[in-house]
Amino acid sequence: MAEAVDAARTVILTVDDDPAVSRAVARDLRRRYGERYRVVRAESGESALEALRELKLRGSHVAVLLADYRMPRMNGVEFLEQALDLFPGARRVLLTAYADTGAAIDAINVVDLDHYLLKPWAPPEEKLYPVVDDLLESWQVTSGKETPTTKMVGHRWSARSSQIREFLARNQVPYRWYSSDEPEGRRLLHAAGQDGLRLPLVVAPDGTALVEPEERELAGRVGLSTTPAADFYDLVIVGGGPAGLGSAVYGASEGLRTVLVEREATGGQAGQSSRIENYLGFPDGVSGAQLTDRARRQATKFGAELLTARQITALEVRGAARTLRFSDGSEVSAHCVILATGVSYRQLDVPGVTELTGRGVYYGSALTEAPACQGQDVYIVGGANSAGQAAMFLARGAKSVTLVIRGSSPAASMSHYLLQRVMESPVISVRTDTVVEAVHGTDHLEKLTLRNTVSGETETVETQWMFVFIGAAPLTDWLDGTVLRDAHGFVLTGPDLSPDGRPPAGWTLDRPPYHLETSVPGVFAAGDVRAESAKRVASAVGEGAMAVMLVHRYLEQS
Ligand SMILES: Cc1cc2nc3c(=O)[nH]c(=O)nc-3n(C[C@H](O)[C@H](O)[C@H](O)COP(=O)(O)OP(=O)(O)OC[C@H]3O[C@@H](n4cnc5c(N)ncnc54)[C@H](O)[C@@H]3O)c2cc1C
Repeated sequence: MAEAVDAARTVILTVDDDPAVSRAVARDLRRRYGERYRVVRAESGESALEALRELKLRGSHVAVLLADYRMPRMNGVEFLEQALDLFPGARRVLLTAYADTGAAIDAINVVDLDHYLLKPWAPPEEKLYPVVDDLLESWQVTSGKETPTTKMVGHRWSARSSQIREFLARNQVPYRWYSSDEPEGRRLLHAAGQDGLRLPLVVAPDGTALVEPEERELAGRVGLSTTPAADFYDLVIVGGGPAGLGSAVYGASEGLRTVLVEREATGGQAGQSSRIENYLGFPDGVSGAQLTDRARRQATKFGAELLTARQITALEVRGAARTLRFSDGSEVSAHCVILATGVSYRQLDVPGVTELTGRGVYYGSALTEAPACQGQDVYIVGGANSAGQAAMFLARGAKSVTLVIRGSSPAASMSHYLLQRVMESPVISVRTDTVVEAVHGTDHLEKLTLRNTVSGETETVETQWMFVFIGAAPLTDWLDGTVLRDAHGFVLTGPDLSPDGRPPAGWTLDRPPYHLETSVPGVFAAGDVRAESAKRVASAVGEGAMAVMLVHRYLEQS
């Protein structure tokens, strides 16, 4: 039996079938968290689930679940899987013996495990508390706010509803979604004097009703900064992906007055990843959302300003100042600039796609749309890691997931570990040598026409969901005439600017450009936007940090 539950405080629940171990974990947890959290202990998966059901009915919050792996009848992974249905936002930890780490690693994908703790966990100050502290902190920031104050009324087949939903989700703004055809959605529309023809309706925490809002207006209403506090900075960073966030953390922590400008949501491509498994220091993997959340908190802690929903459209050199223009014509200037604008999804150029984007055809929105794909047939176009990750993620709930790949094998483009999992999944199938020839539907996606590139045969399949991951391109046209780029639009830096040993055209200094410096002194590039970059989270973060080191060198010498 589990202990009686108390709805007043947020819960940390621990379950272990060995009574001595169970008591010891609960004792250690109470010692540190007992004042702020209710620690509930159970000795079997079944009784822990019973306690969770009771907590759910009483409206309690559960922040962290710690489950022993080896329990009779229901093991820790099976328990966590069922617990997910009741408290999807709770952070999940598996307690394992060294011999079971393989099972723990497999569980990462099954239950989106946040951490596995090797037994024994003593001393808790070193092994248990840092992990739980971290999980509680991230829970507080995201799922902790289980009663979101932003409400959104939209419709599944409204493209603008889907964009705004993605915007809120990627910026980790807690919100509650109501369909315009459900009673509460209709009530909200009525209260705002709307007939539902223009969607979405967003009701901000202060009660303001916004109809089909622009991202910038919405950002301001839900508490995201959109305007720089000053006109002049030491450093402006353009782009809030891993490279930009890395630069912001190092720039601000080293005393530079730093502002980062992001046009959509911080996290960039990495923020859209369901699980990054190759980033140093996260042996259990980390979701893009978690990594972004931590990086953002770290950057703001050091004093960096982060602006969201603001796009930079021009760069000008005005003497020693580097001036960036926003899309609304306003400006911000700095001594130095780091371009960290990454790459954007390439659009699928086949008939019907433009009309149905956001209405069944999505670019990179797999995480936001996944709940709606439960029990459905889903198609993913692309054969690289991003497509593989999306397939694994969607396979948790979809009836079937089909990967449509132009090449003859995904092995050429997908990491070995990921490909193995994709191939082992009973839900995922792979169609090689296949392209999407057309998409069909009136107000939403209904069918796809697929063509086999070897046999030439076509087939029309029924589906309401297609996610496209067909590579990406840098969107750097706005740098035309200022910063030198290669034929594909990637920004040239350092030695790549002088293949013949001569400085680039227009270079005015008597030293060659620094390693990450562009053809404009004091303007640097980091991450995926840089020509010849590695296209990895770790390298983007590393380049972001290194660019700041070069900013210091530039400032010292100018
Ligand atoms: C689904 C997915 C899964 C991935 N998984 C992994 C993985 O497991 N491991 C790994 O190592 N790599 C992975 N990658 C690759 C990795 O995410 C990228 O290499 C990394 O994000 C690059 O970081 P970045 O900061 O250079 O650029 P990006 O992440 O592309 O960020 C650039 C940011 O700049 C913003 N921006 C662009 N132009 C402007 C402008 N004009 N004004 C203001 N803002 C602008 C964009 O909105 C974006 O947020 C994955 C990529 C995807 C898409």
